Amino acid sequence: MSDVRTAIIIGGGIAGPVAAMALRKVGIQARVFEAYDETADGVGGMLGLATNGLNAFDLVGVKDAIVDVSIPVSTMVIQSWTGKKLAEFGDPAGPPFIQTVWRADLYRVLYDAATSHGIEIEHNKRLVRAENTETGVTATFADGTQASADILIGADGLRSTVRSIIDPAAPSPRFTGLLGIAGRPAMGPKLASTNGSMNMSYGKRAFFAYGVDQQGQAGWFANVPSKKPLTVGQARAIGGDEWLRILRELYAQDRTAAPEILRHVRPADLVIVGALEDLPTVPTWSRGAMVLVGDSAHATSPSSGQGASIAVESAIQLARCLRDLPTAEAAFGAYERLRRARVERIIAGGARTSSEKAAGPVARVFRDLTMPTVMKLMAKPERMAWQVDYRIDFDAPVDESAILPTR
Ligand SMILES: Cc1cc2nc3c(=O)[nH]c(=O)nc-3n(C[C@H](O)[C@H](O)[C@H](O)COP(=O)(O)OP(=O)(O)OC[C@H]3O[C@@H](n4cnc5c(N)ncnc54)[C@H](O)[C@@H]3O)c2cc1C
Repeated sequence: MSDVRTAIIIGGGIAGPVAAMALRKVGIQARVFEAYDETADGVGGMLGLATNGLNAFDLVGVKDAIVDVSIPVSTMVIQSWTGKKLAEFGDPAGPPFIQTVWRADLYRVLYDAATSHGIEIEHNKRLVRAENTETGVTATFADGTQASADILIGADGLRSTVRSIIDPAAPSPRFTGLLGIAGRPAMGPKLASTNGSMNMSYGKRAFFAYGVDQQGQAGWFANVPSKKPLTVGQARAIGGDEWLRILRELYAQDRTAAPEILRHVRPADLVIVGALEDLPTVPTWSRGAMVLVGDSAHATSPSSGQGASIAVESAIQLARCLRDLPTAEAAFGAYERLRRARVERIIAGGARTSSEKAAGPVARVFRDLTMPTVMKLMAKPERMAWQVDYRIDFDAPVDESAILPTR
């Protein structure tokens, strides 16, 4: 049992509230501080939650509430620009292997669950500074207020302030060569249902993913290769009308549902994300009483479909380590050794998928020729089991001696 009794969590996205709920289970009282002051209603696009992520959400009792607001995906079809099926995963009659959820709905479920357990989530609290003290840590916010606790957890995402406080030389996010644009559901009377399947198409010029329900309502996202990493502000400045024109032109030759879906999209329905990024490795995850969790420590490209899932796994594992090891320092070390190899393997896989999507004209021809064979060899459930079947035994004691060093 560690000597840690209180925690400050910076970031009320996904890892933050889950860490707070997991810490509560092990007797540590946490307060969450979030930079934004508004609720998440209407914010962001869709997320795919993999089975390993849902297993982790289950450990803090929110899996069912998430499933209630999600759309299950039982199969995934990979197509070329000609519409040819390159691979298919899953079983239409089997259990869903992904739940897709609107980001705003997920935030709402986590916020409601955390606050119903008495966890305080304070908004409009942007961390600007944090210092290790003799008794723990003190955080200072942009409004001049301060908070102190035994430990501070940086769950403040890809552009983490806590990461640069822990290590001013920490790496910055890396551009994947792709820009992300998604859409709120588009209705099209002529759109054929994909019957619970998510279709991923390696289009002639850009990647497009979509699913169409029985009513002809389509959810979709596009990954557009780009030499320049546009920030979200720069990408939004281009404007919805112009983006829609660019997208319709990019996918015009594809013999998939992309051109038809885009005909039904309205500029106001676009969710413009800008550069998609990852962090291949963050050398320092903790210093003194501060530690990172989620994207701040291990951001994978969205292409892996694993970022949220591994963020939640890390939040849970951190709580287990704080429960079982005598000091924060020992717990942070064990936590990193438990997590680093797994998350960096997932990040590397996401980077490979992103570079396939960003392939230039020559590489694209090679990719489309080899993909059916590669998919036959690689796209087997047993090959992905290490990733998606991962389940944390929360009650099992963390055995420090059994954890291998990661570096
Ligand atoms: C386009 C796109 C698509 C994606 N698709 C998927 C997917 O399908 N499946 C999947 O699993 N993952 C996906 N991801 C990744 C996923 O969104 C992240 O991995 C996940 O959100 C990480 O959770 P987090 O809590 O660590 O960070 P975040 O969700 O980013 O939360 C961080 C929080 O910290 C707050 N914050 C930041 N700085 C401060 C500060 N200084 N003070 C206080 N608060 C602060 C932020 O406002 C935010 O609320 C996608 C990402 C993108 C960009």
